[in-house]
Amino acid sequence: HAKESGRSTYRFFTETMNADALERLQLENGLRQALEREEFQLHYQPQVSLSDGRIIGAEALIRWNRPEHGMVPPDRFISIAEESGLIVPIGRWVMREACRQTREWQDAGLPPITMAVNLSALQFRRDDILATVKSVLEESALAPEHLELELTESLLMENAEDVMSKLKQLKAMGVRLSIDDFGTGYSSLAYLKRLEVDRLKIDQSFVRDVPHDSEDAAIVRAVVQLGRSLRLEVIAEGVETLAHVGFLSAENCLIAQGYYYCRPVPAETFGEILSKEFLRPRAIHAA
Ligand code: C2E
Ligand code: MG
Ligand code: MG
Ligand code: MG
Repeated sequence: HAKESGRSTYRFFTETMNADALERLQLENGLRQALEREEFQLHYQPQVSLSDGRIIGAEALIRWNRPEHGMVPPDRFISIAEESGLIVPIGRWVMREACRQTREWQDAGLPPITMAVNLSALQFRRDDILATVKSVLEESALAPEHLELELTESLLMENAEDVMSKLKQLKAMGVRLSIDDFGTGYSSLAYLKRLEVDRLKIDQSFVRDVPHDSEDAAIVRAVVQLGRSLRLEVIAEGVETLAHVGFLSAENCLIAQGYYYCRPVPAETFGEILSKEFLRPRAIHAA
């Protein structure tokens, strides 16, 4: 019966659905085909040592080149991919492609970097994440310490034994863990201790208005100190200006990522940048 009424149901929906819901439905349909049609691409953004501008890592950021629509930013489609479950195959593709590319750069003799991949909480829950990571590392022959998984605070706050046990096993495999957008969710400091996280990423919303916003400056300073006390690396996101660089250097934050150094770029461009190894060392020394 459901099959018979499919057509009229569809018509009913298209007539009464608001424009937003319709657009979501169209995005979801587009997403279903995007993988096999090879419409996704990864861009890479350098992570840079603040003291000398050396590139020590990259973050892989997905891009969707949607036919007849152009580039769709991840903020527009990741949540839809999560709700539809498509985040699992898409997330696997991201990890596989990022690791393959990292190994390719290594084989080409470029300076070794750590590749950071965003892991949605939903992907973590629904996918057999241990099996995925294991097979991706085997396939790419990338050493596990060159892969970093960016987790969200919401995942860590779940406190489910299942989540904790999976994270422990990922650590045991030698993969690095970082907490993305640190400070924007429920930061549980207890988990930082239990989890053997390697790195905190200070959210860009705290970086944007330093040094003049004294509250943001205090938060950034506190996270840097927390990192130092717990022996965690701290990286600042959204570093856009020389003033940001100056403030972060003075606060002893050691790693930065942001437009000041480089926007996310396609693999080919990243390879060219990586072959030079350093980004704007002069500007940094002048800071
Ligand atoms: P995120 O993981 O926090 O990534 C950082 C975002 O900040 C990226 O946006 C990046 O382009 C942007 N950004 C970098 N430097 C600067 C800067 O100096 N100033 C400003 N204003 N922005 C900067 P993007 O690429 O649009 O990605 C947005 C979000 O989408 C990401 O935030 C992440 O949560 C999600 N995302 C991206 N790729 C993936 C993916 O492969 N898988 C999953 N699950 N999520 C992804
Ligand atoms: Mg991230
Ligand atoms: Mg972030
Ligand atoms: Mg974000």
